Amino acid sequence: MLRMAFSKLGLSQQVLEGVKAMGYTEPTPIQLRAIPLVLEGRDLIGSAQTGTGKTAAFALPILTRLQSHKRAPRAIILEPTRELASQVETAFRDYARFTDLTVAVIYGGVGYQKQLDALKTGVDVIVATPGRLLDHMEQGNCNLGQIEHLVLDEADRMLDMGFLPDVKRILQKCPNERQSMLFSATIPPAIETLIQWAMRNPETIEIGARRSPAETVKHVIYPVSDMQKTDLLLELLKRVNYDSVIIFCRTKHGADRVAHMLQGANHAVAILHSNRTQAEREQALEGFRKGRYEVLVATDIAARGLDIAKVSHVINYDVPQHPEDYVHRIGRTGRAENTGDAFTLMVAEDAMHVFSIERYISKQIPREKLEGFNYRYTALFEADKPGAAKPHERKVQMARVGGGYFFGARKRRR
Ligand code: AMP
Repeated sequence: MLRMAFSKLGLSQQVLEGVKAMGYTEPTPIQLRAIPLVLEGRDLIGSAQTGTGKTAAFALPILTRLQSHKRAPRAIILEPTRELASQVETAFRDYARFTDLTVAVIYGGVGYQKQLDALKTGVDVIVATPGRLLDHMEQGNCNLGQIEHLVLDEADRMLDMGFLPDVKRILQKCPNERQSMLFSATIPPAIETLIQWAMRNPETIEIGARRSPAETVKHVIYPVSDMQKTDLLLELLKRVNYDSVIIFCRTKHGADRVAHMLQGANHAVAILHSNRTQAEREQALEGFRKGRYEVLVATDIAARGLDIAKVSHVINYDVPQHPEDYVHRIGRTGRAENTGDAFTLMVAEDAMHVFSIERYISKQIPREKLEGFNYRYTALFEADKPGAAKPHERKVQMARVGGGYFFGARKRRR
């Protein structure tokens, strides 16, 4: 009965078969709104969060419109990272499995030959990171003259990673008569300019409040002194009944350090950051997906878009410095309606960053104390005890942030 809803959207029979084989029973909100527009040929700006089903929202109607195999690429999807490109390629292949349409993925860090072979055989859909795609274009391996559908996925991340000039060069090689779609969690001015330049009268779809993280996620902040961060992390892992957890660190070096510490404590740990080779990254993701590792330690490269089902917990070992990254990191959990928990370890110097996150998501995140943990720096929690030092007297409360509250001055206690 629910499958009817998919079948009412105007998708082709073969694509519907693909959807059915994936086990999807009903379209997600972004799919309901985007699919008819894409089928109409409209340009589209989507600001849905990851985990909302946005890949299928563009892939299903694109595959429907492409109909059947021709030798020249007619759809191009640009992604900021290899992992995302590979994930989106897999989604396209899955959805296209009952069509004769072909898909190639193009990214750097691996040899050219396999990609060259794929391009030579003639593919309908290319999923690519911008740099390597440009290389192929410059070597004459790939001509975008027949492109009908263009998707710029995670556009704000492409901007952050300095890819916009490459993206523009690629766009210039696509026909003006094309359908363009852009997905971005935020629309900074540079993306706005790109939209003006590259899109025609786009329709905007915003699913959920753009800035709010997935509703199903419970957020908690654990204030802790710097020297007890690793102890608290170990204790959290002991106490929490998790299936799989991603731990985010600010730096690659920090991620390595935390991962080795956890390995030393007998956790099965995978590491994902950009100093790892492509093979190592794939192996880490694959192992984590399959449950070979229970913990994935990552830098923000993994925060955006990566689809890892059933992540039960996200732990921010370091507070993200950009509020959007908090939302993206937290987006790893609470996917596909699972509830998840998001814990953030916060040291005194993080107060300003935490405040910007709270302002960004328009809510205050409760501070909690891990009961029974041997906190060495108890002043963190003594704000409202009789006789406690006044806020300005306590060292940890050095940062009065905005018109708000002081670090550690929360009443909530367990
Ligand atoms: P995305 O936001 O595209 O990364 O998708 C998030 C996850 O939701 C992926 O694992 C998809 O396979 C899954 N998904 C997408 N559409 C549906 C749907 N209609 N029903 C159930 N799961 C879906």
